[in-house]
Amino acid sequence: MKTDVAIVGGGPGGTACAMFLEQAGIRSTIIEKAQFPRYHIGESMTGECGNCLRTLGLADEMVRRAHPVKWGVSVYGPGGKNPFYVPVKGRGPDGLFEASTWQVRRSDFDRMMLDAARSRGVGFIHGEAVEPLRDAESVTGVRVRTATGVVEDVVSSVVIDASGPSTFLSRSNLTSRKERGNYDNQVAIFSQVSGGVRDAGKTAGDTLIFYQKKHHWAWFIPLDDESVSIGVVVPTEYFASRKESKRDFLVRELHELNPELKRRVPEIRLTEEVRAISNYSYDTRHFTGKGYLAIGDSHRFIDPVFSFGLYFSIKEAEHAAAATAAYFKGLGRDDDNPFLGYEQRSNAGMDVVQELIDAFWNQPVAFAVMVHSRYTEDCIDMFAGRVYMDEPSPGLLAFRKVNGRIAPSPAIVGG
Ligand SMILES: Cc1cc2nc3c(=O)[nH]c(=O)nc-3n(C[C@H](O)[C@H](O)[C@H](O)COP(=O)(O)OP(=O)(O)OC[C@H]3O[C@@H](n4cnc5c(N)ncnc54)[C@H](O)[C@@H]3O)c2cc1C
Repeated sequence: MKTDVAIVGGGPGGTACAMFLEQAGIRSTIIEKAQFPRYHIGESMTGECGNCLRTLGLADEMVRRAHPVKWGVSVYGPGGKNPFYVPVKGRGPDGLFEASTWQVRRSDFDRMMLDAARSRGVGFIHGEAVEPLRDAESVTGVRVRTATGVVEDVVSSVVIDASGPSTFLSRSNLTSRKERGNYDNQVAIFSQVSGGVRDAGKTAGDTLIFYQKKHHWAWFIPLDDESVSIGVVVPTEYFASRKESKRDFLVRELHELNPELKRRVPEIRLTEEVRAISNYSYDTRHFTGKGYLAIGDSHRFIDPVFSFGLYFSIKEAEHAAAATAAYFKGLGRDDDNPFLGYEQRSNAGMDVVQELIDAFWNQPVAFAVMVHSRYTEDCIDMFAGRVYMDEPSPGLLAFRKVNGRIAPSPAIVGG
């Protein structure tokens, strides 16, 4: 079959991309190997991620489904002390304003996204993309093995990799080497609990983060009135040294990691299988070329601590759709890599978040000062996802200095 754009993966990145392409009048076909609904981790959105859904006209449906509203994230320090709060705020011509985003149960949300894309006329194949099709110059589509076992070639002008951690294009050697990320030696063990003590009132749907020590932390993300996603992230070595089952490890950590977490989950009633993911941090610097580009997790994932994964997949979906629309209008047709601009912008945005996360893990005291008092507004912008900057903000420059990426100035912290 023929389509304008073949999209590998029908998760939030792939479906958002298909809908952004549809808004630009471009036909696409999603290839998804899993049967939906299916479990997936990654449930908390940044502020700008919520805005992407509004741009796609999905806000009413999000409200109808009663996904918990997130107004911010509270981070509790060791011993449950020194919490700091980062509100989700929007930015308009008059500065920051009150705003909210959502938490999502992924089985429901991903299904909603796929249904929305299909209802807008996006093509769909239930099957696995097994390899890209190529000619001497360019990628020309994908070979698919359908769920019924039929092998079919999907010929397209552009292939968009939205396969998440499966990194389809990288496995096909079309990208540069997939390097290990800074947070590679970590394991996340997670499940869901019923009950859980939330904040009272408006912020009941907020994300809570509990820090014990470097690289040892937990999340608490409300999924509906009853269920809360909970997960513990630790160094892989520490998990192995405990010689416990995933379940025993999680249950013990929930009551030992941080007293505030124990207070939030006094009785541990697990309602989901206990799952684990390790070595999830990686970076592929070059992931575009003639006829192909990758979005979100399919080229890079940094660290789950500040919930950027969904945002990058969905925002890059928007950028990839715009780059594809420009290409169809003739822009960069004769270039070696028509999608280089998209790649550079994507790397630059993710590099900003890398600075934020590196500073949090490596310089927690300086980080807290910057968030609390020195560069509060810049930090709120970065946490929301406003990371595609023409010029680096003063807050970003300060993070770069703290991380040793530009020469330090004595006045930068606490001045
Ligand atoms: C421990 C942990 C916690 C996280 N917490 C958060 C969080 O709180 N907030 C947040 O925003 N992000 C979080 N993330 C990240 C988040 O899970 C991902 O960033 C997000 O799911 C990426 O969406 P996607 O659409 O790019 O990929 P995915 O959601 O992974 O979707 C990819 C789809 O492609 C399909 N696929 C793969 N290969 C093929 C193929 N060859 N052919 C056909 N189909 C294929 C898969 O079946 C899948 O449905 C977390 C990640 C981890 C590891």
